[in-house]
Amino acid sequence: MAVKYGLLIDFEYCSGCQTCEIACKEEHDFPVGRWGIRVLEDGPWHKDDSGDDGGEHFNWNKIPTPTDLCDLCADRVAKGKKPTCVHHCQADVMRFGTIEELAIELAKKPKQVLWTVC
Ligand code: SF4
Ligand code: SF4
Repeated sequence: MAVKYGLLIDFEYCSGCQTCEIACKEEHDFPVGRWGIRVLEDGPWHKDDSGDDGGEHFNWNKIPTPTDLCDLCADRVAKGKKPTCVHHCQADVMRFGTIEELAIELAKKPKQVLWTVC
């Protein structure tokens, strides 16, 4: 069976800088309105007041989400490079690897997403 590759994104520490969006768009020369990855935002909305500190907690996540145009940077990877979003991520929260090795990392902490292509 062919080895499957993917991206593991630790969105808990994503700053929302959108550098991955621009790097991907430049690398693939996507036209206006087309993107290989988008940084989606959910929140802020009130979650609860039940923290140890007694303070209010909010849900506010920025979640980088590859689109149907993502090819996991096949041309770069074939040359031994990382995908350009991984290379340029300003917070170093993106990883490229096999699904098996990324799944091991995924199990180590919450607020991550694992993504692959067909
Ligand atoms: S892996 Fe490549 S094609 Fe996919 S989102 Fe990242 S930069 Fe874009
Ligand atoms: S470059 Fe990294 S930190 Fe910036 S929005 Fe993309 S995933 Fe988040």
